[in-house]
Amino acid sequence: MFNLILFGPPGSGKGTQSERLISKYGLKHLSTGDLLRSEIAGQTPLGLAAKSFMDKGQLVPDEVVIEMISSALDNNPQAHGFLFDGFPRTVAQAEALDKLLAQKGTSIAVVLALEVNEDELTKRLLNRGLTSGRSDDRDEGTIRSRHSEYQKKTAAVADHYKKYGKVVFVKGEGDIDEIFQSLCKEIDLRDRA
Ligand code: AMP
Repeated sequence: MFNLILFGPPGSGKGTQSERLISKYGLKHLSTGDLLRSEIAGQTPLGLAAKSFMDKGQLVPDEVVIEMISSALDNNPQAHGFLFDGFPRTVAQAEALDKLLAQKGTSIAVVLALEVNEDELTKRLLNRGLTSGRSDDRDEGTIRSRHSEYQKKTAAVADHYKKYGKVVFVKGEGDIDEIFQSLCKEIDLRDRA
């Protein structure tokens, strides 16, 4: 089993690159943002509770997303591996993920961290807001909160995995195909058995 985390700030291209990576490597895509948006669309109690955080650009509480990921892992026993996108976003989430994977006899192989400068990130999110239908991409204040949550709580997730030598930084600016090739090169260097 090969599990990877595609890491980076909001707007760094995780969603775009995830789509390509899962189709090339046959991984199961687990995006907590997508899972939460489908809970909102289904008007479930979880979705309604999460929406108020998401609309403000704040992180949803750890217990909620950890439970969602735990169910998703259990519901995909046939998966050859998982690509985690937008998760973990706190050190507590990372520790919970490590534990859940260990219970299944597996672990994170690599954390690929996309690096993009902040002006470019804001520009990309505002652009995406024109077509994505995501209200959290349309408002500059919400975008600023998402970046501040990232700096305050999420950046430390890279430090957590650095302790295990699992983090590789990849330039996330420029041509989408070239970024994809850089990501593939890192994956291909590793044992995917
Ligand atoms: P994303 O689609 O990954 O940009 O996530 C959109 C929003 O969903 C974030 O701004 C958070 O409010 C929430 N969210 C997504 N993933 C997580 C997570 N792992 N932990 C907490 N909140 C999350």
